[in-house]
Amino acid sequence: MKLRLIIGTLLVVAIVAPLALPSYQVTLLNYIGLYSLVVLGLVLLTGVAGMTSFGQAAFVGLGAYTTAYLTTSEQLPAWLSWTAGSPWIALIVGLVLTAVVALLIGSITLKLSGHYLPLGTIAWGISLYYLFGTLPAMGGHTGLSGIPSLTLFGISLKSSEDMFYLLWALLLAAVLITANLLNSREGRAIRALKNGQLMAESMGINTFRSKMIIFLISALFAATSGWLYAHMQRFVNPTPFGLGMGIDYLFMALVGGVGHVWGAILGAGILTMLKQWLQDWLPSILGSDGQYETIILGLLIVLLMQKSPEGLWPNLLKRLPASWKPYTKKAQPTAKTDLSNAAPLDKRSLPTKGTKVLEAKNITRRFGGLVANNQVSFTLYSGEVLALIGPNGAGKSTMFNQLSAVDTPSDGDVYFLGENLKGKTAREVSHMGMSRTFQHVKLIPSMTVLENVALGAHQRGQKGVLSAAFHSERQEEQQILAEAKYQLERVGLGEYLYHEAGSLALGQQRILEIARALCSDPCVLLLDEPAAGLRLQEKQALSELLNKLRQEGMAILLVEHDMDFVMNLVDRIVVMEFGEKIAEGLPEEIQTNPAVLEAYLGGAA
Ligand code: ADP
Ligand code: MG
Repeated sequence: MKLRLIIGTLLVVAIVAPLALPSYQVTLLNYIGLYSLVVLGLVLLTGVAGMTSFGQAAFVGLGAYTTAYLTTSEQLPAWLSWTAGSPWIALIVGLVLTAVVALLIGSITLKLSGHYLPLGTIAWGISLYYLFGTLPAMGGHTGLSGIPSLTLFGISLKSSEDMFYLLWALLLAAVLITANLLNSREGRAIRALKNGQLMAESMGINTFRSKMIIFLISALFAATSGWLYAHMQRFVNPTPFGLGMGIDYLFMALVGGVGHVWGAILGAGILTMLKQWLQDWLPSILGSDGQYETIILGLLIVLLMQKSPEGLWPNLLKRLPASWKPYTKKAQPTAKTDLSNAAPLDKRSLPTKGTKVLEAKNITRRFGGLVANNQVSFTLYSGEVLALIGPNGAGKSTMFNQLSAVDTPSDGDVYFLGENLKGKTAREVSHMGMSRTFQHVKLIPSMTVLENVALGAHQRGQKGVLSAAFHSERQEEQQILAEAKYQLERVGLGEYLYHEAGSLALGQQRILEIARALCSDPCVLLLDEPAAGLRLQEKQALSELLNKLRQEGMAILLVEHDMDFVMNLVDRIVVMEFGEKIAEGLPEEIQTNPAVLEAYLGGAA
């Protein structure tokens, strides 16, 4: 997207607006800016990371009340006297307080899933709201008044026009920071939260940490908005920080387009203007009683959700010329950035050929009465390809989940590089050097092929949120993307780097998963039906790649139904049926094993 052009236009409009508009409209724009800041956080939290929060208004309240209290109290307690009534210090105190509260609340609620998470946000949203109204020092339900206006470089920001510049500058900074963040290593992890937590953990990503980061950022944006609000309004009471406003913020995000950064401003703008407009006009049509605007607004929102569930921003984008769009489904001959100069990431050294790397010892996994794996044992050595075969439902994928710690065996042990994996998480196992693909492809369809694969290299980078927000992690980012590109070229998807992953054929998506797994620099690779859906040529290419990896010393375990593929490639085969291992041996042994022929091939010998 031509981000610079949008920002440039907005800047010009923003600079001219307060000079050209009447004061009350500037105030309206200020409110839009205040709301946008909160909604921007919600877009991140709800739209990007998939966590619905009704409680954002409470964080706005925290920011507002902190500064209201610190700047209006005649006599601050001794331990707070250093704040000296300065709104700027109050901003920092408010942000720190909000961060602490968000960490506390987040550590409890972010573990909730499904409907429980939004319900949890309602619960603490209400609690904080009542806290504001109850604490005597906060002025009860009357609130606090006499909040000073802000002063910046000696200039008093008393008028709406003055506040306008500060407010919109802060908002723009927040948008830029957000856009930077989303285009980074941490950002990719955050974007993977919505539909790929199991996959993300298997790629070594700490999903709880990512959730916490985004929860914190959205809370800090809200608190900043609250601080601005307090100094603009010059008094606070609990009303604007309750659940009702929390819902309004969500509506703004929905209307604008909940997954889109710019949708935040659009949504906040449209709903605020519409409400204002309805408030002005409806009484003259319907008489002055009743809050008709709320009813009509509600109906309009329902209609919009029907017509455009994605919100207005994506609709607007659709109408833009193609050259503006970030990525198109067609291949882009020129890469977005030149990745050829990036230094390679550190690589782990592979164990010497023939080392025992992975061992399943009497693995049993029961699902209720069903025994999906029953006392299965086998060993995988570095520099070999071992096939796990067997009819559908034999328990192969279940075994993969036990090996990679995605699931926990009911009985038995997995040893990886000599270490018992009992109690280890999929993430830890991934960090130890095991990587996998999934039978049912798990990728983020809306992310590019390159970004999806870069998720695999997440654990090989270190740069965090702050460097991402200020874009000082470019070097590492280039390294990660270069690695992703290299692995994609290696698996033969080099021409699809900037395509949406969801637009690839299913077979290609499987291959993408192999590139993603390779990106994590593993020494053991588990591939669940990698050749399914591939054409003959693609299968041959895959076979060659796996052969090469084997020569390098990789240990590869694969589940595959294509017997030609298996027999021509692998070193050894383990056969499963009804959860049990029924045979193990060289391909030629397996081909003539009576038990295998009987069970696996239905006796067709
Ligand atoms: P395969 O990969 O060999 O085709 P699976 O490992 O996917 O087989 O499945 C083995 C058996 O375990 C099947 O009967 C399947 O329905 C059952 N199964 C797998 N996962 C679960 C689960 N999470 N809950 C209950 N049953 C499961
Ligand atoms: Mg399976």
